[in-house]
Amino acid sequence: MKFEIVTILPDFFRGPLDYGIVRRAREAGLIEIAVHDLRDFTSDRHKTVDDRPFGGGEGMVLKPEPIFACVESMGMASQEQRRAHESLETVVLLSPQGRMFSQSVAQELAGLKRMVLLCGRYEGVDERVAEHLADQEISIGDYVLSGGEMAAAVMVDAITRLVPGALGNAASARQESFTATALNDGSLNCEAPDSTCASGGLLDYPHYTRPAEFRGAAVPEVLIGGNHEQIRKWRRKKALEKTLRNRPDLLEKQPLSSEDKRFLAQIRKL
Ligand code: SAH
Repeated sequence: MKFEIVTILPDFFRGPLDYGIVRRAREAGLIEIAVHDLRDFTSDRHKTVDDRPFGGGEGMVLKPEPIFACVESMGMASQEQRRAHESLETVVLLSPQGRMFSQSVAQELAGLKRMVLLCGRYEGVDERVAEHLADQEISIGDYVLSGGEMAAAVMVDAITRLVPGALGNAASARQESFTATALNDGSLNCEAPDSTCASGGLLDYPHYTRPAEFRGAAVPEVLIGGNHEQIRKWRRKKALEKTLRNRPDLLEKQPLSSEDKRFLAQIRKL
């Protein structure tokens, strides 16, 4: 996967994408990240990337010409071909007005070969970029950031984790929060007798490491006992408990097993 980030702040990306899994994935050649300075695609002496909004109002708006010139220099398939999914490329405009980024959108995008991430600033980007250059607008959440750079870094990180080989232990991606593992018959893997596969579309279960007792707080007994079936049940129950408490909306979307329903009834009685 090649990420092409278009920004007026190229230095911003020194750091956030140089650590951990993203760094290792870059070093292993699983992903490539190119950062393009929008000012390199201006044609005036002052390297102007923004201008005042038509119709008046606050702030500045990123001009369309440098953004079009930058993307057109990349030799991508046409917007029509990309939108028809005839190429494994996409041009994303980061925007609070976009469709919401999520683990499933990350999964969908992880299957592509190349992704351009256009980072807005100021009041935003001339709308013709969304209409005639980008294939989609994506938001990382219902809040307004000062620029698309943070959002682009979030997307690169979440998508990289899903590129095959990026995680040392492939199983750990499957059991994380929000990840539902589908079985061959299309049902969800909620009851697999695997002590570490607890999440299935729910929030992750709690993790503990040494020391077994810290400031009087002990690690739950069951995790030390080594009974895998009991550990699996405990983790599933805890994942359900935390999901019910923090994200009840996720439970509504989940096909729940009879064991899950029993656990939930127990939790609700507490
Ligand atoms: N006036 C705009 C906000 C502009 S914020 C509005 O009200 O919708 C400036 C830039 O930050 C945007 O162009 C976008 O690229 C980025 N940005 C801000 N919030 C974002 C979010 N939640 N997700 C993705 N990008 C965001």
